[in-house]
Amino acid sequence: MPCQSSGELKELVLEAKKCAKKGKVADYIPALGKANPNDLSIAIHYPEGNCIQAGDIEKKFTLQSISKVISLALVLMDRGADYVFERVGMEPTGDPFNSIAKLETMVPAKPLNPMINAGALVVTHMIKGNTVEERLDRLLSFIRDLVGDASVSYNEEVAQSEYETANLNRALIYFLKQHKVINEDVETLIDLYTKQCAIEMNCYDLAKIGLVFAMDGIDQEKNKRIMPVDIARICKTFMVTCGMYNASGEFAIKVGIPSKSGVSGGIMGAVPGRFGIGIFGPALDQKGNSIAGIKLLELLSKNYQLSMF
Ligand code: GLU
Repeated sequence: MPCQSSGELKELVLEAKKCAKKGKVADYIPALGKANPNDLSIAIHYPEGNCIQAGDIEKKFTLQSISKVISLALVLMDRGADYVFERVGMEPTGDPFNSIAKLETMVPAKPLNPMINAGALVVTHMIKGNTVEERLDRLLSFIRDLVGDASVSYNEEVAQSEYETANLNRALIYFLKQHKVINEDVETLIDLYTKQCAIEMNCYDLAKIGLVFAMDGIDQEKNKRIMPVDIARICKTFMVTCGMYNASGEFAIKVGIPSKSGVSGGIMGAVPGRFGIGIFGPALDQKGNSIAGIKLLELLSKNYQLSMF
């Protein structure tokens, strides 16, 4: 892995790790409960192809909610923004990611944004293809393109574990189906969604995806456009407004880097025009964000003036 270890990053990791004790790994998906709460790793990818890292960056984790930004980019390319935003909104909710509350008061029913589960389920519903396998393959090949690694796949154990316990997500789909926002079989969509959430990689790969978003959709090293600039811009905007669950406002003030987190403890960051960040720290705070990962980003942003605001 062509990634240099960095003494400076290592110091920041050691400092940030201190708060991991205050967090807790997610266990509502039983397979995620096996993670080591003390893990913390980071990789930073630059456009020229160089990379710096600290911690055990070989360790793989599942994307969970981070996959929501990527499926959104794919669906926007497939269907266009008008089609997508007729079915899912653009506003932050201030509610937990799996909340059903706002959905019930919206007339017509339309999830407020694609980063909460209700919105993400509508986005996954829009992935084109005839079967779960075909649709998952399309998402995986897009991700393989973003990462530049053909071996990226999903973790079957985590997917199965979420499939068996995803009753709240099933409830959201039933609700959306009743209101004709979704018109496919509930089990088919939950199968695809749980596999999407279980796509796995390490920090090094995640930082590469962050870099493509940071560079407006271009893989600079390969001189290849992977997504249109306006789609990269839409995704980065959602990362700012709703990427860190209902802590996105505080995160924007304290860190100011477009980022998306997942309940596995991953965080993808995209510093516009500069670099991509991949972090893994599975101990979460109460809102579902990596507690040490957020601390690490706060330290980085402060030390290197990375806030975009
Ligand atoms: N698969 C998870 C769920 O739908 C994703 C949640 C997350 O990472 O926020 O519950």
